[in-house]
Amino acid sequence: MSGYQASCPSCGAAIVFALGASRLRVCEHCGSAVARKGANLESYGKVADLIPTPSVLALGMDGDYEGAPPFRLVGRLQLDWGQGTWDEWLLGFADGSWAWLSEAQGKFHYMGQAPVPPAPAFDDLAVGHTLDLGAAGTFVVAEVRSARFASAQGELPFAVAPGRELHYADLSGPGGQFATLDYGTGNAAEALFVGREVTLADLGLRPREDEERRPVARGESLKCPKCAGPLEVRAPDQTQRIACPWCGSLLDATRDFAILEALSKPPFRPLIPLGTQGRLRGLAWTVIGVMERSVTVEGVRYPWTEYLLYEPRQGFRWLVEAKRHWSFVEPLSPGDVDPNPAIYRGERFAHFQSGEAKVDHVLGEFYWTVARGETTETDDYVKPPRMLSKETTREKGQGRRGEVNWSLGTYLPADELWKAFGLKGDPPEPAGVAPHQPSPWKASLGPVWKSASLVVAAIFLVFVFLSAAGGKTLHRESIRIPPVVAPGSPEAAAFAGPFFVTSDGNLQVKVVSPVSNSWLYLDGALINEETAAVDEFDVEVSYYSGSDSDGSWSEGSTSAIQYIPRVPPGRYLLRLEPQWEAGRTPPEYQLTVRSRVPRFSYAVLAMLAVLIWPVLLLWRWFRFEVSRWSESDHPWISSSED
Ligand SMILES: [Zn+2]
Ligand SMILES: [Zn+2]
Repeated sequence: MSGYQASCPSCGAAIVFALGASRLRVCEHCGSAVARKGANLESYGKVADLIPTPSVLALGMDGDYEGAPPFRLVGRLQLDWGQGTWDEWLLGFADGSWAWLSEAQGKFHYMGQAPVPPAPAFDDLAVGHTLDLGAAGTFVVAEVRSARFASAQGELPFAVAPGRELHYADLSGPGGQFATLDYGTGNAAEALFVGREVTLADLGLRPREDEERRPVARGESLKCPKCAGPLEVRAPDQTQRIACPWCGSLLDATRDFAILEALSKPPFRPLIPLGTQGRLRGLAWTVIGVMERSVTVEGVRYPWTEYLLYEPRQGFRWLVEAKRHWSFVEPLSPGDVDPNPAIYRGERFAHFQSGEAKVDHVLGEFYWTVARGETTETDDYVKPPRMLSKETTREKGQGRRGEVNWSLGTYLPADELWKAFGLKGDPPEPAGVAPHQPSPWKASLGPVWKSASLVVAAIFLVFVFLSAAGGKTLHRESIRIPPVVAPGSPEAAAFAGPFFVTSDGNLQVKVVSPVSNSWLYLDGALINEETAAVDEFDVEVSYYSGSDSDGSWSEGSTSAIQYIPRVPPGRYLLRLEPQWEAGRTPPEYQLTVRSRVPRFSYAVLAMLAVLIWPVLLLWRWFRFEVSRWSESDHPWISSSED
């Protein structure tokens, strides 16, 4: 790196702009910010002291990244967005180019310079909107904010006076890409940086472990300034707020535990105590904070509890409990979710509910400046067993600014959780159906219906086959009743047969008689000539017709069928005792006896029997889904008040 040497306009000491692109240098002797404008130097006055952040980096550290020329940390910019501060490190490469390394909450993002695309003015930016960044892809505007230039060290690539507000937008792109649009102090985009999350190892940087490094809150024994209860800080490098587990008072972990809100007792008792450790997804998580949040819909408050989990290498996750149903929740990069409709990794989620969530109570540690009463817009989408949630935080009075976050929750059976965290007793019984609770009926619904359909089809085919093949005529006879005998008298009776039944099965007796506005009733008996066994049956033919004001009508039929089930093989006779309308000429009738006639009603009964379980299953699945959606914005069955 060639340098540009000059004298500090404030104190006269020699200062060096090591990086050709540098426009601001903090004088090491007097602490003035010195701007370089062409050949002139201008002092912006003293910069404020650096805010103690738990950074593991320091100016002068060397590294290299992905085959780029070696770099050195030549500058450090501290920004304050009102609810916290973060560091931006300026990487000066050996060839004179540069990039940013942003450090916040223990995470690092390498951000390289990219050509500025046509971008909306700062005042027109809105969180949640998308922006086409050309070759890099389509990015989601994840955060729109202003941050104050709080302090600096070394060199910076812009000449801005400390204390000024800098406008920026953080964007989230596909495949874990990040981008920042810098608007400087104005309204037009000035610079674009594109990059991704990196580790210090990726950059060839070795974190320092020295005395100077000052964590925000040390993990050693501390006392609550309100109640003197012992405080254990479990994520000392990242904790911004602590709500004392003994008295509930909210403390500022970045300012010597100053009391932000004094309480005398914890506002609620979490089901999982603070400090509990458990293994989920192969990692040991510690519960470090608990929040009670709620949405209020039409005057009804729906509360839930969120447990903040911490693992030193993975960072933060959540356990969410609503009506005793549990979920494990992971943050997603907004650029990985297609918001409309909600699609994540090719899976489409159904909108469940939108609302405004409020923080009601907090306990324990938080890595952001949590406060009671904080509100966020929430949109939940489900595809059991998962839930996709969007949270949009807007800055008061500036609806377009704020940030958008996405997370993915996975339904976690309570007993699994109890086991994973070694909790005592049985988990409390969940109430109702959770939005993303997997249906116990859904998995078997498809296969059960598929096999039932196959069985029904098979029954139908067998019936069709039997109908085509079966049914053998054993006997056919026309019977004339003597004209002088009385109905029901023994003289009117006739015998038909004999005929032979060769194999087990039913017998069908069919009677056809040309009755007209009259009837014929036969009292029948099937007599086995060998065993003298008798099977009684009856069969009736009746047919009426006429015409009235509605036109002509008819009722009944001139034929009738009766079945005699399970007739064993043998030689048989039929005895038929007829009755008919008194005073009329006895009707003639034709008798046909067939054996082994397939009966469609049996086939239908068999099909219905096969369908009982599938229908029951469908009904249970339906009840479950109705219950699931009953508290959504889209109930399947609207409640009676609506
Ligand atoms: Zn100076
Ligand atoms: Zn306390």
